[in-house]
Amino acid sequence: MQPTVSELIVHDDAIRENTAAFARLTGDRLMAVLKADAFGHGAIAHSVLEAGAKSIGVTSIDEAVALRDGGVDAPILSWLNTPEADFEEAVRRRIDLAVPSVELLAAVVRGAVRAGLPARIHLHIDVGMARDGCAAADWAPLCALAREVEASGSVRVVGIMGHMSCADDPADPQNARERLVFANAIRTASRRGLAPAVPHLAATAATLTGAGGGFGVHRIGAGLFGIDPSASTDLLKPALTLTSRVVSSREVGAGTGVGYGLDFVASDRTHLALLPVGYGDGLPREASGRAEVLVRGRRRPLVGRFSMDMVVVDTGEDQLQPGEQVTVFGPGAEGEPTVAEWAAWARTIPHEIVTRLGSRIPRIHRTIEPSNHTQGAAA
Ligand SMILES: *Cc1c(COP(=O)(O)O)cnc(C)c1O
Repeated sequence: MQPTVSELIVHDDAIRENTAAFARLTGDRLMAVLKADAFGHGAIAHSVLEAGAKSIGVTSIDEAVALRDGGVDAPILSWLNTPEADFEEAVRRRIDLAVPSVELLAAVVRGAVRAGLPARIHLHIDVGMARDGCAAADWAPLCALAREVEASGSVRVVGIMGHMSCADDPADPQNARERLVFANAIRTASRRGLAPAVPHLAATAATLTGAGGGFGVHRIGAGLFGIDPSASTDLLKPALTLTSRVVSSREVGAGTGVGYGLDFVASDRTHLALLPVGYGDGLPREASGRAEVLVRGRRRPLVGRFSMDMVVVDTGEDQLQPGEQVTVFGPGAEGEPTVAEWAAWARTIPHEIVTRLGSRIPRIHRTIEPSNHTQGAAA
């Protein structure tokens, strides 16, 4: 077996603490959004459910089925599917489905009929970002058809969802417009007899800033992983540490060029160490020339253009040994760069850094046991 070289440590305890904080903040109306392999964090569904999440949200039916296969019994909502998706399987596996159009509703009904069970659906209104969800003009006919098929027994309308465009800035007047579109959509639905459906509008930013207006359930993704798009709190804990190990190192003289195009040229004699992690593993190439890593307790720059499989760190007077561990990013407690810094270096958002980490890097889940448990465990 190969020794592990680069490792992605997933701090399950941090995710649990963030989850518990959102459970408190939302009055126990927390849907944990675990799309894109839980924002790159891997298998953490059972942890978030133990920590207070009541349900799980994902985009595709495939993601939802994978959670069911992993033993998740809680409600799961899938909100992004084409009419060709396997709705029969979704209904059989008790997966809730978001419905943004009459075409998709018809496809869900066909799946429910084949499954011989009613589909649990959440009608999805576009409140203002012209992305997914039903255009406001088409909402009343969608509600009318939903009521009709509900009466026939093939669906149950259990939710009404919307998603906000500008909630990271609570002062943006768009928030009030979108809350109004959503409130009107709920009123239209209830006039069509869809009254018990639970409304949900807010994601992380709208929940932290209050811009979501306190409708029903809160769909929280980024915040569970310590990412706050609204920059309104520093209470959330980052949950990933990426480390790698030195393959080789060498001393080079002034004038030595490094990497493709020789973008970096050493101005003095220095030491270079090679790390076997590159843009093929999700390190953004755009961060070339700006990014740093933590080496022997201090920040050192990555130099030259990032390669697919490797990067080079300038360690100054230190000659590293093959196998020495280097921290690429982490929560920041020991001075290592954070995901937020990497995002700034790559001119992107933290979400993109964490979701692009490649499958070559193993995810290693760590939980720090509370001290009152360790005694019992030792006995
Ligand atoms: C991703 C997503 C969320 C979660 O958003 P965060 O900002 O990560 O909390 C909620 N709802 C929908 C529809 C989404 O696509």
